[in-house]
Amino acid sequence: MAKKKVINAAEQSFENQNFSLNLANAAGDDANETTIAEKLLSLYNLQHICSQIDRIRIVRGELPDEVRDLEDACEGLKTRIANYQDNVKTLKAKIIEEDTRIKEGRELITKYETQQDNVRNNREYESLTKEIDYQNLEIQLAEKHKVRYQNEIVAQNEEIAVFQEKLSELADLLKQKKSELKGIIADTEKEEAELVAKAEELQTVVDRRLLVAFERIRKNARNGLAIVQIERDACGGCFSTIPPQRQLDIRLHKKIIVCEACGRIFIDHQLVENQNAIPVFE
Ligand SMILES: [Zn+2]
Repeated sequence: MAKKKVINAAEQSFENQNFSLNLANAAGDDANETTIAEKLLSLYNLQHICSQIDRIRIVRGELPDEVRDLEDACEGLKTRIANYQDNVKTLKAKIIEEDTRIKEGRELITKYETQQDNVRNNREYESLTKEIDYQNLEIQLAEKHKVRYQNEIVAQNEEIAVFQEKLSELADLLKQKKSELKGIIADTEKEEAELVAKAEELQTVVDRRLLVAFERIRKNARNGLAIVQIERDACGGCFSTIPPQRQLDIRLHKKIIVCEACGRIFIDHQLVENQNAIPVFE
C-alpha cells in the first residue's frame, strides 16, 4: 500500500516536472543539443554501473554491522569481567582485614590471660574475663565475615568464568566474521572504488533532471532499477503490461516515457544493442 503511494507520488512528480518531454524541448533545453536517445543511453550506462555496485554491497550485506555488534558485545563482556575482578580484589582485601582483626584479638586474649595471672582482686579478674569474652565474640564475628566474603568470591569467580566462556565464544565468532569481511572487502574494494568513480563521472554527463528522477526511483525500487527495457510487452521493472502505442513511442524514443505503474524510465532494447554506434560519452 505504502509502496503504491510512493509510486503514485513519483508519477505525479514526473507530471509536475513536465517529464514527458518532446525532442524539440529537450534539445532546446540543452546547449549541447543532447538527443533523447543519448540521454537515455547515458542513464542506462549509469544504471548498469549502479547495479554492479549494488551487487557488491549485497554480497557484503550485514557483515559490517555484525562485526560492529560483536565488537560491542566483546567490549561489554570485558568491562563486566573487569568489574567482577575488582569486586574479588575488594573482597580479598576485606578478608585480610578480618584476618588482622582475628590476629589482634588473639594477641589481646593472650595478653589478658597473662594479666589474669597477676590480678590483685576478683573485680580485675572479672573485668579481664569480660575483655576476653568480648575479643572472642569479635573473632567469631570476623570468622563469619570471612566465610561470607569467601562465598562471595566463589560466586563472583563463577560469574567471571561464565563471562569468559561467552567472551571467548564471541571473540572466535568475531575473528571469523572479521576475516570474512576482510576477504570480501579485499576482493571487491578496488572494483567498487572504480565503479563508484565511474558512476560519479557519469552523473556529470547525465541530464540533471533525469538524474534526480533516476535517484528517486532507484531509492524506491526494490531491485534498484530506475531505467528498464520492455520484456514480453511488459515493464522490465514491475511487469505491468504496456499498451502497443506506448511501446511504439518507446521504440521511437522521441520523448522520455515512464512506466505508468511504477514510474521507471523506459529505454528501447534496440537503442541499448546499438549503443556502440551512438557516441554518448568517453
Ligand atoms: Zn513498471
